[in-house]
Amino acid sequence: MNPIRLAIVGLGKIARDQHLPAIAATPGIALAAIASRNATLDGVAHFDTLEALLAEAPEIEAVALCTPPQGRRAQAAQALAAGKHVLLEKPPGATVSEIAPLVDAAREAGLTLFATWHSRFAPAVEPARDFLAAHAPRSVEITWKEDVRVWHPGQDWIFEPGGLGVFDPGINALSILTRILPRPLFLTGATLAFPENRAAPIAAELDFTDATGLPIHAVFDFLQTGPQSWDIAIDSAGGRLLLSSGGARLTRDGAVLVDEKEAEYAGIYRHFVDLIGRGACDVDLAPLGHVADAFMLGRRTKAAPFSW
Ligand code: NAP
Repeated sequence: MNPIRLAIVGLGKIARDQHLPAIAATPGIALAAIASRNATLDGVAHFDTLEALLAEAPEIEAVALCTPPQGRRAQAAQALAAGKHVLLEKPPGATVSEIAPLVDAAREAGLTLFATWHSRFAPAVEPARDFLAAHAPRSVEITWKEDVRVWHPGQDWIFEPGGLGVFDPGINALSILTRILPRPLFLTGATLAFPENRAAPIAAELDFTDATGLPIHAVFDFLQTGPQSWDIAIDSAGGRLLLSSGGARLTRDGAVLVDEKEAEYAGIYRHFVDLIGRGACDVDLAPLGHVADAFMLGRRTKAAPFSW
């Protein structure tokens, strides 16, 4: 069978860092075009916009939307209407409600819509989930601290409404948490620190629980210089689990259970190919729902103005 002909929309940091190598390494899918206003890739057909791509390259079967979240719904709707399978970078959109009509459109057309959560493809996530299914968690502490200037250099969209600010990385922790815990969680309180000159938070502190009263505390910070922290520590009936490096490493009472080079995006593209083959969708809005809850329930504080 011929590989699925894929186009990347929005050739920015994540498309170059992760999507290009993962697509090249995945059987069953091949990069056939780029739609990006400013960026091109040697040897690959280029279109300035998604509209031009859809009009002029009917052979394209699927698109990966690597643009900022604020414009993604409209692009996904256009691509689905044109009969393309759609992969959404995280977060899947700028609001929770905009996604259901996309799922309906995909299902009605027999197309795949895949809302990716790349951190769920980190190697320690499934082992942690299996462990917690057998050993009840007693408390959870999340520390997600990174340097926005390193990971999102000059990306003003991230501090615009819908850009999520520090929840752009924080939602990755929530995507892991919602996968590994045995029960649904819900927010009980939050504090969100907004720079005076920006529309999205630069730091946040959150408390969640579940139906059993499990205490879950999370600290998100976008101004972490030096070593970066992407850790989830879980006290459980079977010992203390520590997922670190964003889910690449797992220890139990200090003993290493998993320590693998991160290969999240290869897993994403294998899953996309499989979903398309099965005519299925994969859209889980739980992480986005928790972030929306934080914006709804969170107390807002002022932080110093932010500049790059
Ligand atoms: P980025 O570097 O800003 O790239 C996004 C690209 O989308 C831009 O280069 C731009 O290319 C295009 N674009 C289209 N409309 C745009 C608009 N209104 N404003 C800005 N750019 C626009 O961002 P990114 O870091 O790749 O992030 C893209 C998505 O991937 C986000 O949802 C982010 O959460 C997710 N992600 C990022 C990372 C990371 O570490 N950076 C990790 C995982 C996931 P043209 O100008 O050529 O059109």
